[in-house]
Amino acid sequence: MSKKILILPGDGIGQEVTSSAIQILEFIVDKFNLDFSTKILDVGGTAYEKFGSPIPEDVLVSAKEADAILFGAVGAPQWDNLSWEDRPENALLTLRKELNLFANLRPAFLFEELSNASPLKEKIIQGLDILIVRELTGGIYFGEPRGVVKDKNPNYAFNTMVYNEDEIRRIAKIAFESAQKRKGRLCSVEKANVLEVSKFWRSIVTEMSEDYPDVELSHQLADNAAMQLVLDPNQFDVIVASNLFGDILSDIAATLTGSIGMLPSASLDSSFKGMYEPCHGSAPDIAQQDIANPLAMIGSLSMALKYSLGEEMVASKIDLAIKNLIKQGFRTKDISNGENYLKTSEVAQKIIENIENE
Ligand code: NAD
Repeated sequence: MSKKILILPGDGIGQEVTSSAIQILEFIVDKFNLDFSTKILDVGGTAYEKFGSPIPEDVLVSAKEADAILFGAVGAPQWDNLSWEDRPENALLTLRKELNLFANLRPAFLFEELSNASPLKEKIIQGLDILIVRELTGGIYFGEPRGVVKDKNPNYAFNTMVYNEDEIRRIAKIAFESAQKRKGRLCSVEKANVLEVSKFWRSIVTEMSEDYPDVELSHQLADNAAMQLVLDPNQFDVIVASNLFGDILSDIAATLTGSIGMLPSASLDSSFKGMYEPCHGSAPDIAQQDIANPLAMIGSLSMALKYSLGEEMVASKIDLAIKNLIKQGFRTKDISNGENYLKTSEVAQKIIENIENE
């Protein structure tokens, strides 16, 4: 049966980088005879302007039917003062919640040729290849009760960090299985020295490790893990963490690689259906200038092929084409010397040529 792909370009450079991914998608469908059906819909501020909602009903319906969603980016200052319901970013959170996309996978990979773009010294950063698996729909961002109390002296605010066993097991399973497909090392990050929820997290992950004898499990406290990511990032293969700690660690890992325009991400449900998006936003400062780096979006397409569309071989061809493009010296403006660079609209064709020549 044909696999369904929903494409949601969104706003700003979301539209530009998605257009590059669509060009490559059309090419691989043709070249490798893939049975995909695709649909493109407006979302975010663009949808709000046309239909009065950042996430019209047909987007939600199509998203639920899709095997994979390619999401560009949403948002821009002109919509910042709308009510939360109408704000472009609401589309993203609604999709994550409605589709139960509890597992956020963020690879942080350093291209050897771009090591001088990293804020870390070359000898520390060389060979960086980490996968962060972040729990995305639970923990302190969603825990109840939460609130602000304004009739006490002193007033106070509070949130609840809560995880049940099933939530921990399902994210840890994805992390263990990811480690099996990589270098076989998993580091679980929490604060078991001070938080009950973390102690519970650690005990469940430790118990599960018996089912994965081929994965070497370690544990780190979140503060130490943040430090270790900067001091010695190559000690890590896969990191698994709760929503809060994963949020912080994945941004540190992203920074290590130099450009946000290079980093893809996947958000998956328990049946490996998922939404794939670059880590960056809609970058209004460079929108419509044809200078955005589309490689994060193209990498996101590759992740969709690998995790949700059962086309690992085609995904690896795209990954190799991205590596070769960098090796050949082609750069978009953000990673170039600012003089000679590829325009956004020129990148897809170069990737296609590289796939043809593999
Ligand atoms: P941003 O990621 O859009 O931009 C941060 C900086 O990185 C900017 O200088 C931008 O020019 C640069 N940049 C980002 N992507 C790039 C690319 N592919 N190539 C080259 N340079 C790139 O973050 P921001 O400026 O904080 O947010 C802008 C808007 O995006 C806001 O409305 C915000 O809410 C929204 N946003 C959306 C998402 C999403 O849709 N997933 C994520 C983050 C921010």
